Amino acid sequence: KAKRQGRNTYQWYTDELNRKVFERVNLRHALQQAIEQSQFELHYQPQIYGPTGQVSGVEALIRWYHPERGNISPGQFISLAEDTGQIMPISEWVLERACRDAVRLNASATMPVTMAVNISPMQFQRSGFLASIQRVLKQSGLAPELLELELTEGVLMESTEHAIQTLQDLRSLGVHIALDDFGTGFSSLSYLKHLPINKLKIDRSFVRDVVTDPRDAAIVDGVVTMVAKLGLEVLIEGVETAEQYEYLNARHSTYFQGFYFARPMSFSALRSFLDESPHPFSGPEPPST
Ligand code: C2E
Ligand code: MG
Ligand code: MG
Ligand code: MG
Repeated sequence: KAKRQGRNTYQWYTDELNRKVFERVNLRHALQQAIEQSQFELHYQPQIYGPTGQVSGVEALIRWYHPERGNISPGQFISLAEDTGQIMPISEWVLERACRDAVRLNASATMPVTMAVNISPMQFQRSGFLASIQRVLKQSGLAPELLELELTEGVLMESTEHAIQTLQDLRSLGVHIALDDFGTGFSSLSYLKHLPINKLKIDRSFVRDVVTDPRDAAIVDGVVTMVAKLGLEVLIEGVETAEQYEYLNARHSTYFQGFYFARPMSFSALRSFLDESPHPFSGPEPPST
């Protein structure tokens, strides 16, 4: 009996493995088509500067509309695209589109709006990365100060010397650098001392229970204080409720991003949002006084 069970387990395991391999091959082909047929779009999520309540920037987030499967989230295809190298043409398209949209946005906006773009590890580590940034800035005409590149801890910890040099070169261009998802990787605080970054984005996992869990509050307080003393800016990600925003905004002078302010939206929706949202920002439902 034990033998049969073992066999069943083995059978289940190989079926599961086959299914996963099959799904990956499928997705890879679908991605190739998506690249060729331009099935991607960028959505933009506003970022708010707490002390003024103004929208200071937006983050570009890729969207994939598959003709049969519908929406496929970046969480489902970005890491596969990294493995297959398909991330390169995708990233190039993202950068170009984001910079062009940033120029259009700033032509009509009353305040400068920064464009934050997520950069994948492969993209960052490739030798032509700096040149591609220079080219995209030149072609779009975007002021370098309005471009912010979001990198994750993993990217910056590998090949440190090359990474630091690249960051310094980007900073010399005037481009801003943000460290994304801070607190989720195996970060060593010592690199904060050496990396020429501008901003740190505290991961949303610390925000979810920040109002009720003193441990999360302690982490956020500590990180914000430390990072401010290092002379860096801080953005708190994943703010979903008025309570979270009020709690955090009362304690810290930081940037904010999250569903409470706005979900990622199309370029045209963003335009209306910027035109219609009150300045300073007071949230979807202004707190009753
Ligand atoms: P990220 O860079 O940390 O982006 C923030 C993610 O959190 C986005 O998910 C956004 O929709 C979501 N988010 C924002 N506010 C809230 C909130 O209040 N609550 C919750 N629960 N979620 C919130 P999205 O768009 O699914 O993107 C997931 C990840 O995929 C991104 O995480 C980023 O790592 C990657 N990604 C997205 N677009 C690109 C891209 O163009 N290039 C690259 N290389 N990666 C991308
Ligand atoms: Mg990001
Ligand atoms: Mg993030
Ligand atoms: Mg993330």
